[in-house]
Amino acid sequence: MSQSQLMPVEEAIDRLLAMAEAQRLHDSESVPLSDARQRVLASDLVATLDLPPWPNSAMDGYALNVGDWSGQPFAVSQRILAGQAPEALLPGTCARIFTGAPVPEGANSVEMQENVELLEDGRVRFKQSLTAGQNIRPQGQENRVGRVLLRAGKRLGPFELAIAAAQGCTHVHVVRRPRVALLSTGDELAEPGTPLKPGCIYNSNRTLLSHWLSALGCEVIDAGILPDRPQQTRLKLEQLQHAADVILTTGGVSAGDADCLGQVLRECGKPLFWKLSIKPGKPLTVGHFGTVPVISLPGNPTSALVTFGLLARAYLLRIQGVEDVTPLSFPMSVGFDWPKAGGRREYLRARLEAGRAILYPNQSSGVLLGASWADGLVEIPEGCTLQTGDTARFIPFCDLF
Ligand code: AMP
Ligand code: MG
Repeated sequence: MSQSQLMPVEEAIDRLLAMAEAQRLHDSESVPLSDARQRVLASDLVATLDLPPWPNSAMDGYALNVGDWSGQPFAVSQRILAGQAPEALLPGTCARIFTGAPVPEGANSVEMQENVELLEDGRVRFKQSLTAGQNIRPQGQENRVGRVLLRAGKRLGPFELAIAAAQGCTHVHVVRRPRVALLSTGDELAEPGTPLKPGCIYNSNRTLLSHWLSALGCEVIDAGILPDRPQQTRLKLEQLQHAADVILTTGGVSAGDADCLGQVLRECGKPLFWKLSIKPGKPLTVGHFGTVPVISLPGNPTSALVTFGLLARAYLLRIQGVEDVTPLSFPMSVGFDWPKAGGRREYLRARLEAGRAILYPNQSSGVLLGASWADGLVEIPEGCTLQTGDTARFIPFCDLF
């Protein structure tokens, strides 16, 4: 099998998502809210309570019926704090009421305490005319029983979990975590905590990706470091294919002699694509080994970061049932010149300053510091040049996690 041309990024994403559709996870589980962050809802969350459950006061003040108002002072017939169940309002009187307290039956308006005059005999004079409904949060203002609050496929963050808590839920029904075997390849790699031999470097991709995978709801199976040997590579993939839903690798997919992972995937697997029109990240290789999907990121830390964020992330969310996997992006004015058009789509680490995207000075794919300095990626389409003040698509990192 050969792939003569570089595959455009959109086409690669389409193919990955089609692969993800065939791989959708159907098992689900119930997990406590405290453990449900970053998980994906398996079924709709439907309201079992009206919110608010009863009309309540939006202010500290006095509740009354505007029909009783004639300019004369009102006697205060009860005092209602949040958490109390009031009596019906005695006609012609008002009730002292506090924020969040239920509005008593018979009252239809709340006046804030700053707008009333307290008389010496304990009565209250309303200084201005009042309208029915003012300062009252009506029952069901947010939702009624039966409304679908969150759809299946929604990723759960603090807002969604708070919405579930407001319904009294202790648990949510979520898609099971994808099991992702994370494999680093390269003879030069050593794990932090072990001695560094001459010619070697510490493995940073494993840390980058295991945190990122967890943030996407995945369970990480650490498959360690694989040396650049075809036989061992084949054996490792055979071992892992039954242990994981997906194998995610880094390194070993470029065109060098030592890049045996790519060779093994092309010879013994079913590759979908392995040359992408993207910079950094051209060697990204995706396919199957046996029955298990394999996503092989290039080894350079920034290449791994860009291809994971723009492609692998979408796949891992879609197998969990997330519909909208396109990262947030917006047009941004650039604070740099880009005089030389490139043949591949380029993603540059950039920071937003004074309404413009400015570049980290070193855009080498081996430099990880730029990612930490940056707020996100500026996308430069194939064949495009830019001048300061032109507009380009900006993809903030914060939405990629
Ligand atoms: P490769 O994609 O295997 O050709 O590797 C490209 C570059 O990335 C080489 O300089 C590798 O040493 C480096 N690299 C590969 N894997 C890792 C890793 N896990 N952590 C840090 N750097 C890596
Ligand atoms: Mg390598």
